[in-house]
Amino acid sequence: MTNKMLKFVSVQQRQPEKRTADDRRVDFDEIYEDFVPAGATEQASRCSQCGVPFCSVHCPLGNNIPDWLMLTAQGRLEEAYGVSSATNSFPEICGRICPQDRLCEGNCVIEPGFESVTIGAVERYITDTAFENGWVRPTRPFAEREESVGIVGAGPAGLAAAERLRAAGFQVHVYDRYDRVGGLLVYGIPGFKLEKHIVSRRHDLLVESGVVFHLGQGIGSGEGELSFEALRARHNAVLIATGVYKSREIGGPGAGLAGIERALDYLTASNRRSLGDTLPDEAQALDASGKHVVVLGGGDTAMDCVRTAIRQGAKSVRCLYRRDKANMPGSAREVKNAEEEGVQFEWLAAPEAFVGDGHVTGVRATRMKLGLPDASGRQSVEALEGSSFTLEADLVIKALGFDPEPLPQLWAQPGLEVSRWGTLKVGQQDFQTTVPGVFAAGDIVRGASLVVWAIKDGREAAASIQQWIEANNTAAAAREQG
Ligand code: FAD
Ligand code: SF4
Ligand code: SF4
Repeated sequence: MTNKMLKFVSVQQRQPEKRTADDRRVDFDEIYEDFVPAGATEQASRCSQCGVPFCSVHCPLGNNIPDWLMLTAQGRLEEAYGVSSATNSFPEICGRICPQDRLCEGNCVIEPGFESVTIGAVERYITDTAFENGWVRPTRPFAEREESVGIVGAGPAGLAAAERLRAAGFQVHVYDRYDRVGGLLVYGIPGFKLEKHIVSRRHDLLVESGVVFHLGQGIGSGEGELSFEALRARHNAVLIATGVYKSREIGGPGAGLAGIERALDYLTASNRRSLGDTLPDEAQALDASGKHVVVLGGGDTAMDCVRTAIRQGAKSVRCLYRRDKANMPGSAREVKNAEEEGVQFEWLAAPEAFVGDGHVTGVRATRMKLGLPDASGRQSVEALEGSSFTLEADLVIKALGFDPEPLPQLWAQPGLEVSRWGTLKVGQQDFQTTVPGVFAAGDIVRGASLVVWAIKDGREAAASIQQWIEANNTAAAAREQG
């Protein structure tokens, strides 16, 4: 075994080829090419098969990374897929969009000096190969069960739970207000990070396995929506996996001018355009073509906006972030990709006011400096007096983060308790909310987070739902007997 491994000293790190920035700028296709088989085998062989694999410890799913790397190095790809898919419902998605530099790869022990094993790219390669060879099959339960579970939200948390519950034989119904499955995987994250057919082939598999989707069906008290009570009456248990969609806003002079838009509205319009949808009139203007674009924020959403604007043919694209590059919350790899594609970053700069007469024409900003660390250890930021400057802008995109929608009010469910951040409160171990038989997972519990955490929560919530239903059945049987 070991003669195939431990090659990190002689074999250099190599990611799959990246398309040139010129190529990337003109379409929404993924930017990384596929690994050639020899490349994946060679890269997997760099792993040193650690006794305590820190890569796995720092993967939210606890993936058995050294095992599937070894199997890949040995050319045993079907087995590698078996190991990889045992802990991850959608490894090909995580392989593409996890911020590996902060998770598995960032904690690979060969990183200091030798650059980490390319774990994400190998994970993606294993599952893409499995799809090509027909090894990825719909889940088939050993036995059907009559109990049903209603899942609200077809994002990664809801889909991962649906897959697990269906494997256990439950009748699974997923409700989503959108017309497509995937949540932010489809309408938030752009195609250059994750092509949409990767998500729709998972949708197809879930349908084949017997999961029933009710698309275009919102849960709530609005027109055409199904009430939460009606949903509960239909199912033995319910999982809420609705994500977080309330955009953080910005105030100040001119903040109400036309042309100042929310990031998710902008990205959804772009994704819908790529999918061939006809946009409603109000979304037509959400296009950067021929415009000077300024994006406010420094997270992954901001990176997706700036890179989308480049592809739409913006005249200029600038990103305003109030801290410096080292303190940016977005993935360093995405910042690099954005810089290569022509985005200009204004580090240590914050907006003060928006200029324009009816429609925005510029953003007045001020330079910032980093101050002393606050209680959380993060350096505070202070404005530098007299440092104002104005950036030309016809389109300003606010990518300042997301908060949860107030579900207890929207759904008239005062019994659903929320944290002080508005996220749903759940039991630490069982994902059950303060309403018995109602569980929650993903961003609606964690706040805006990552796909890999949503998958983890969805899988664990599914196990808890199964336990809860079985415990209820046992209690009911005992009552009948006694
Ligand atoms: P979501 O994916 O938000 O899905 C929730 C679903 O619930 C949606 O389909 C929604 O329509 C549905 N829903 C909501 N309310 C209702 C209702 N009342 N009735 C019916 N349906 C409802 N993470 C990464 O790991 N890597 C990245 O590169 C990355 N990039 C991102 C880029 C952007 C622009 C954004 C916004 C997020 C990004 N994230 C990324 C974060 C990641 O997308 C989320 O953490 C993840 O999708 C959360 O999954 P979820 O299932 O909890 O919610
Ligand atoms: Fe790394 Fe994400 Fe895969 Fe875990 S799921 S091994 S963190 S890429
Ligand atoms: Fe292999 Fe790196 Fe994980 Fe160690 S930490 S098992 S070298 S991938």
